Amino acid sequence: MNEKCLTPLKPVTVPVVGHSELFHVRRVYCVGRNYAEHAREMGFDPDREPPFFFCKPADAVWSVAPGTTGSMPYPSLTKNLHYEIELVVAIGAGGRDIRTEDARSHVFGYAVGLDMTRRDLQIAMREKGRPWEIGKAFDWSAPIAPIHRATGKEDLSSRAIELAVNGVTQQKSELGQLIWSIDEVIANLSTYFALEPGDLIFTGTPAGVGPVVPGDLMHGSIEGLGELSVRMV
Ligand code: MN
Repeated sequence: MNEKCLTPLKPVTVPVVGHSELFHVRRVYCVGRNYAEHAREMGFDPDREPPFFFCKPADAVWSVAPGTTGSMPYPSLTKNLHYEIELVVAIGAGGRDIRTEDARSHVFGYAVGLDMTRRDLQIAMREKGRPWEIGKAFDWSAPIAPIHRATGKEDLSSRAIELAVNGVTQQKSELGQLIWSIDEVIANLSTYFALEPGDLIFTGTPAGVGPVVPGDLMHGSIEGLGELSVRMV
C-alpha cells in the first residue's frame, strides 16, 4: 500500500552561519523586476510601479554548504533555463501591515539564492496572461546558501551582488540598485500576506540574466553575505 503520505514530511531547512540550529522554511515569496536594468532587459519600463510577487513551493528550496558545489538537475520541458542571482531575506518575526521603518526588526538574516527560471515557459505563460508557476515554481528551482544572521542595522546598499557562469561574470550590481528596498518589500508584501517566521523573500535579480546548460557552473556572491556554487547536471 502507498501510505507514505501518512508519515510526516521532511522539513525544508537552511543552515545558519555560526549556529547549529536550522532555519525552517515556511513559504517562499519572490519579487519580480526589482532592478531597473533587469526590467529593461525583460522589455519593461522600470518606472516605480508597486512591487509584484510570485511564490515558489517551500520544497523548491535546497541548500548548498559553503565551500561545496551543489548539483542541480536540468529541469524538464525547457530549452531556456535562466539563472537569476538574488538577495534572499529570511523572516524571523511575523506580522501584517508592517511599517517600512519597522521592517528590519522582522528580519532573521540574509542569504545568497538563485531564482532559477524556465524562461521560455514563463514568457509563454506571461503572453497568455496565465500564472507563472511552470516557469518559476518547479523542483530544484531555489538553491540557497546558508543564512547570515542580521544585526538589524546593516547598510546593505553598497553591497556588491554578482554571478559568474564558468568563471565569466554575467550579473554585477549592488543592492542599492533595488527599485524597492528590502524594507519596502517587507512592508508591501505584508499588506497582502501575514508574514510568519520561516518565510523567505527572493528580492529580485539584476540585469544580465541568461541561459545555462548541463555542465555549466554558476557562482554567485553578495558582499559579506556568502557565496553559492551550483553546477547544472
Ligand atoms: Mn527573480
